[in-house]
Amino acid sequence: MTGRVVLVPTMGALHAGHRELIRAARGLGDHVVVSIFVNPTQFGPTEDLDRYPRTPQTDLAMCAEEGVGLLFMPDAEQVYRPGLGIRVEAGELAAHLEGAVRPGHFSGVLTVVAKLFGMVAPHVAIFGEKDYQQLVLIRAMSRELAMGVDVHGLPTVREADGLALSSRNRYLVGDQRGVALALSQALWAGQAAASGGADAAIRAARSELDAEPDLEIDYLALTDPELGPAPETGPARLLVAARLGSTRLIDNVAVRLGSSPDGVNPMSRRPASVRRG
Ligand code: AMP
Repeated sequence: MTGRVVLVPTMGALHAGHRELIRAARGLGDHVVVSIFVNPTQFGPTEDLDRYPRTPQTDLAMCAEEGVGLLFMPDAEQVYRPGLGIRVEAGELAAHLEGAVRPGHFSGVLTVVAKLFGMVAPHVAIFGEKDYQQLVLIRAMSRELAMGVDVHGLPTVREADGLALSSRNRYLVGDQRGVALALSQALWAGQAAASGGADAAIRAARSELDAEPDLEIDYLALTDPELGPAPETGPARLLVAARLGSTRLIDNVAVRLGSSPDGVNPMSRRPASVRRG
């Protein structure tokens, strides 16, 4: 096959967020390959592997509508052939945030993505910022293991009211759909308060979450864009994960810490001599 191959890895149950990934993929190369594989090794023993939604007919229809030329739907035996059980060690970042709540999750994610990269041999792969820690880790894996795959991120696609699209949203029943909105509202409240610094951003986000007692918060965290410690000023990331009944929801946004209301970072106004000192 000549030309650049762009891989869009998914676990199926495709929604409008996946559709945007496919559309963005078209602009990044010549051939778009969508993979659909519900990867067992990224689910913990008490997680939702068995009930994870599977909608092959509508997935196929969406891929056809989007003109996807190559759909890769391996089964678990093809992906996990008998062998020596070699896996990707996900490194220290994988112990935090999602990794702290879901031990082993990122080793499973990176292992399957490494396998997909090996099987499909893409030049480019695209992932959603919705799973922000996953995106950061896959980018780092491609770089640190010299895989040569250019990893792109796509901003999170949301419902009109702000809820981040997710295959798991279909689990939300009754008034849970409304309660789930507190996640995006908390992130926006934090974003709006971020000019006042990290504590102000966290406080604002926390008070939105506290207004919904049905939400059990796994974490609300402010980091730098690479998920290291948050800076005092400048670009940062605000991330949240919560459980609502038996459904787990995650979301995140970019924030700018310590900027004055006109959007100018006060650090950049300092004279050069002060900055050097
Ligand atoms: P999944 O099928 O949930 O494993 O997701 C497959 C890809 O779609 C991952 O790169 C996700 O980050 C991405 N994705 C899922 N939901 C969204 C969304 N709402 N906006 C953008 N990308 C998304």
